[in-house]
Amino acid sequence: MDKNLSFVNEKRIEKTIKALQENNINAYLVKDRDDLLAKIEEIVVPGSKVGLGGSQTLAENDIVEYLRTNERYNLIDRYAEGLTGEQMKELHRQCFYADAYLTGTNAVTEDGELFNVDGLGNRVAAMMFGPDKVVVVVGVNKIVADVYEASQRMMAISAPANTKRLNTKTPCVVTGVCQDCSSPDRICREYTLIKRQGDKDRMHVIFLNDSFGY
Ligand code: SF4
Repeated sequence: MDKNLSFVNEKRIEKTIKALQENNINAYLVKDRDDLLAKIEEIVVPGSKVGLGGSQTLAENDIVEYLRTNERYNLIDRYAEGLTGEQMKELHRQCFYADAYLTGTNAVTEDGELFNVDGLGNRVAAMMFGPDKVVVVVGVNKIVADVYEASQRMMAISAPANTKRLNTKTPCVVTGVCQDCSSPDRICREYTLIKRQGDKDRMHVIFLNDSFGY
């Protein structure tokens, strides 16, 4: 990345980190994937049972493979081959009893809030309640000014990109923009905003100064 743009991004991340901290949410900037893994290992203690939210950011950083091959952790592997719908549902439920939950997020506001839209609701539910540690990995592209911009970003970028990835039967797969559809395949169902944490050791947002996910 251009060093001047990187500087501007870094300042925006620093501002957002400060706002998150004021909301009892821990936040950090790491420089690369190695640094990211070191930070995860600092937060999630050995022997932890770890659940995963569906996340392009985690996929692009090979976090699933890292967790599968790391003897420190016991992964609830939602990406194991051949899972039936019922088995997947059971794994989503197990995540509520996990020691730690790793996920991405749709957007982080400069006011220090996490905005998410889910299809099933398993990811946002586990982010809000259950695991004692929640680790959210975020590219700088997910930072937005406020909740309005977060919602606009979801409709213009994250939701249509996800429906395209999933090849759903929704109008956005054709047009590339949200049309607030009533399709049975609609993936935008559970809209959540995490404004603050009660337990200041629970939520940890790790920023990378690069673009990841949608
Ligand atoms: S509400 Fe419907 S049209 Fe809009 S992004 Fe979601 S699935 Fe696509």
